[in-house]
Amino acid sequence: MRIDLHTHSTASDGTERPAGVVAAAARAGLDVVALTDHDTTAGWAEAAAAAAEHGVTLVRGAEVSCSHRGTSIHLLSYLHDPAHPGLAAEMAKARESREHRAERMVQRIAGDFPRLTWDVVQAGTASGATLGRPHIADALVRLGYFPTRDAAFAEVLHDGSPYYVPHYAPDPVTAVTLVREAGGVPVFAHPLASNRGRVVGDDVVEAMVEAGLGGLEVDHRDHDHAAREHLRSLARRWDLVVTGSSDYHGAGKENRLGEHLTAPEQLERLLDQAVGAAVVAPR
Ligand code: AMP
Ligand code: FE
Ligand code: FE
Ligand code: ZN
Repeated sequence: MRIDLHTHSTASDGTERPAGVVAAAARAGLDVVALTDHDTTAGWAEAAAAAAEHGVTLVRGAEVSCSHRGTSIHLLSYLHDPAHPGLAAEMAKARESREHRAERMVQRIAGDFPRLTWDVVQAGTASGATLGRPHIADALVRLGYFPTRDAAFAEVLHDGSPYYVPHYAPDPVTAVTLVREAGGVPVFAHPLASNRGRVVGDDVVEAMVEAGLGGLEVDHRDHDHAAREHLRSLARRWDLVVTGSSDYHGAGKENRLGEHLTAPEQLERLLDQAVGAAVVAPR
């Protein structure tokens, strides 16, 4: 069983449509794939139809933006009820704030990269998509300012950049509580991805566990060996599910589907806790 529990589509900052991600998962030899777009479930219906067609089991999810005292962290939510008002409202609030934040970042960046406009960013963004810095990066690439998304991040879009503007996000304890209330399973995404910016300490993980955190994403390309060992020890201490995943973004990042996998018994433990939505099994 090949299980990859973290991918993105054009519903957020991936470059392939939801159906395209599922088709790519089938080609990559995955048996199970989760679609986890940032702050949205808009890709679920299309992905579900594609899963039936391509013979892949789909775990429907989302990656909920959170902020702990200004440090940005990501919470994967699996199989929550998308109609749960509290969780849906938090994700909608984050999406709306992301729009304003992106416009303000574009204004700032345009001071030094004058061909960048809001229209150029929108031209490369699927309608209704959760806007992120990758959409601005792609616009800068299309304009010829940078060769790749990564280069645009390294120069102008990283967390410490003078052009950086934060957006609204709930704190992680609130988000964990809401995911559980919605019947979903909350898993802390890449908790020690320190190459992207600040990370939180074990005390914050512990507070999330007390609120109902179900798992830790351990095997991820942004974790070195020491980070993975530390997270495995935390998972043992608090009896958490351990996952591994690619964080696939299509052509937007080098991450390849299936580059890290989740063990079948870990997926089983996760599914046993999920009551908000069902997996979509192939016909
Ligand atoms: P945002 O959610 O708008 O703050 O942007 C964060 C997103 O940008 C992450 O979810 C990644 O998909 C992407 N990202 C972060 N760092 C990089 C990087 N160095 N290169 C490419 N994409 C990145
Ligand atoms: Fe992303
Ligand atoms: Fe993430
Ligand atoms: Zn992600």
